[in-house]
Amino acid sequence: MPAAYNQLLDATIQHLEDLKSRGVKNVAVSKETLRAFAQPSAKSPISNLKSQIQPVAPAAKTGTTTPMPAKKSSLEKSAAFAELQKRALSCVKCPHLASSRKNVVFGVGSIDAQLMFVGEAPGADEDEQGEPFVGRAGQLLTKIILATGLSRADVYIANILKCRPDTPSQSAGNRKPTPDEMATCIPYLHEQIDLIKPKAIVALGTTAVEGLLGKTLGITKLRGNWQTYRGTPLMPTYHPAYLLRNQAMSEKRKVWEDMLAVMEKLEMQISQKQRSFFLKA
Ligand code: URA
Repeated sequence: MPAAYNQLLDATIQHLEDLKSRGVKNVAVSKETLRAFAQPSAKSPISNLKSQIQPVAPAAKTGTTTPMPAKKSSLEKSAAFAELQKRALSCVKCPHLASSRKNVVFGVGSIDAQLMFVGEAPGADEDEQGEPFVGRAGQLLTKIILATGLSRADVYIANILKCRPDTPSQSAGNRKPTPDEMATCIPYLHEQIDLIKPKAIVALGTTAVEGLLGKTLGITKLRGNWQTYRGTPLMPTYHPAYLLRNQAMSEKRKVWEDMLAVMEKLEMQISQKQRSFFLKA
């Protein structure tokens, strides 16, 4: 059995012992996590145990079980989201970015979205407008979303970094966020995901995958293969900026196949026309 698998089993047992010592008698575990336990593989997606094995409290009268903590009402959820946004908008944890930014680019869309897209960081257009994915790559992302039958208002779009990475020596162009910047900013994204609770996440490009999963395998190897982010299915795919640089039909089809897999996961209707997008005649 792979050593990594044994380590994960040990960590799971430790986590369960901890819960037991705190009086927890029941836990909630997703089918995906249970399946992962049954497969002795180093790749088993049981990394973030605490979010994947949640304590369950017995209900007062019926003796049945209810997940803990209780689900937020939509009013509580909106309030929590507004409070999070307020905190992010005034963030100065990266002083160099706080002083160079025009806007904090928090996120856009429905806080009840079933589908969330995560990109890298705002570019110049996004910094200017305070909204993610509004430049050329963003317009392509919007087309991809529309092709699924959804709109930008139906999904939620955010980035790993909420401020545009500064480029002090250049007047134009973008740079990749540094590991420090990503580590500083990612808690905001974690909170966004925890509140939205999407049924699936699409990670756009290498940086998004690195930020969410800590994987540096590269998007070419990972794309098209379901991953798990804290119990939520995550589909890595190419960043739309890559599709702008590489106009090959085969690359567009790959992203579209990833989107078809996402649509299937969300149990969306898929037409014959949608299935055959970007296939050669
Ligand atoms: N690229 C990204 O990764 N995010 C944006 O918001 C815009 C471009």
